[in-house]
Amino acid sequence: MRIRVDRELCIGAASCLALLPEVFELDEEGKAVIIDKDGNKTSDNTDYSKIGIDANLILEAARSCPTNAIIIEDDDGKQIYP
Ligand code: SF4
Repeated sequence: MRIRVDRELCIGAASCLALLPEVFELDEEGKAVIIDKDGNKTSDNTDYSKIGIDANLILEAARSCPTNAIIIEDDDGKQIYP
């Protein structure tokens, strides 16, 4: 599975950061980026295996986003959430 942040939708509300500060961070534009295990930061598609956090916790963070800016896809690119 993969996760990304739609930067057009992200309003920097930071509820994802509150739930998973080790995975999400706001960049200088006030948009959420995903931090992988190696410390790389991007809003683009990131594989779960590179994040190293339980998929259910990521889904919980995605559900907390008021604008549904956190997009989760399966390995074939099919959208799982929202
Ligand atoms: S919860 Fe949604 S809107 Fe808020 S920072 Fe995270 S991705 Fe952006």
